[in-house]
Amino acid sequence: MNRSAHLRSDDAWIAAAWGHPSSKVLVVHDARALVGGEHLVWTSPSNAPDGERLFLGTPDDGESGAAYFAVMADLPDEPPEGTQPASLRDVGAVLSADEAMLLAHASALEQWHVRHPRCPRCGAPTTASVGGHIRVCVEDGSEHYPRTDPAVIMLVTDDADRALLGHQPSWPQGRMSTLAGYVEAGETLEEAVVREVGEEVGVVVDDVRYVESQPWPFPSSLMLAFTAHARSSDLALDGVEITDARWFTRDEMTACIGDGSLRLPMRASVAFRLINRWYGGGLG
Ligand SMILES: [Zn+2]
Repeated sequence: MNRSAHLRSDDAWIAAAWGHPSSKVLVVHDARALVGGEHLVWTSPSNAPDGERLFLGTPDDGESGAAYFAVMADLPDEPPEGTQPASLRDVGAVLSADEAMLLAHASALEQWHVRHPRCPRCGAPTTASVGGHIRVCVEDGSEHYPRTDPAVIMLVTDDADRALLGHQPSWPQGRMSTLAGYVEAGETLEEAVVREVGEEVGVVVDDVRYVESQPWPFPSSLMLAFTAHARSSDLALDGVEITDARWFTRDEMTACIGDGSLRLPMRASVAFRLINRWYGGGLG
């Protein structure tokens, strides 16, 4: 799987790829596509519904002429047997890495197109161009690119190597996860980690280290995962974003998962991976 960005502005190549017998189309709506088992359900260009076409890339950087597309259209009211509409949230942990990437790409573009029909400079309509990777204002010709909103997510540990998990009031009872928050304008990622932990649980952290990232197109987040060290273990919760928080040893986490009092975030999330990484792997 290759994004083949150099082919996006080649309208003739893309038109030919749409007619290629090996090209595949994913219908996407509201960040969801049809999924059957552990696979995305692709269709052929000739069977695809009408809608905005998004060029996602190629299996071979364009060598064969085949391509992956998404089409923005309604999903069928009655999905074929064994298939169902699903988002990256639902199936990110079971899809292959390539298919998860294709669904993330398609969802992120679709969510952006739906939310940006008008020019932010003059308010006139915009139209998609460059294989669905930009929108162009019909009045002033200004070009607009898909936006990505950076969010930091951090596993904080103390001097006893305990992990800090918090509970948000909108979550089901027992659900706890790593702290997280959006990066503010003009802020570094490291500053955002320090600020968010301070605001939410009153802990001063240092030794902020980047781990990995994950696109989270609901509608346009990029989750940037960090670890951080707490200078003290005293908690002072903000009581609004975080209404419960505690430190867990690995044994305590094992016990609380076992008795049902702790429910970790979904497996597809980078939060789960951060916690599992600290735990040493093997969390369910
Ligand atoms: Zn404009």
